Amino acid sequence: MAVVSPWHSIKSGVHHNNTSCNTGNNIERENYRAGTGGKPLCDECKKVASGVRR
Ligand SMILES: [Zn+2]
Repeated sequence: MAVVSPWHSIKSGVHHNNTSCNTGNNIERENYRAGTGGKPLCDECKKVASGVRR
C-alpha cells in the first residue's frame, strides 16, 4: 500500500489517499478530481493506512 496525493469523486462525500483503497480505485474518470475537495478521509483509506487490511 502507499499513501499518495489525495483524490476524490465528485459523487462521493469523502476523499482517498491510499492506493490500496478499492473504493478510491473504482472512481470513474469522469468523477475523478485531484485533492481532498474539502471532504473527510474515507474509512477504507483509514483502515488500510492503519494496517487492519492489506
Ligand atoms: Zn478510500
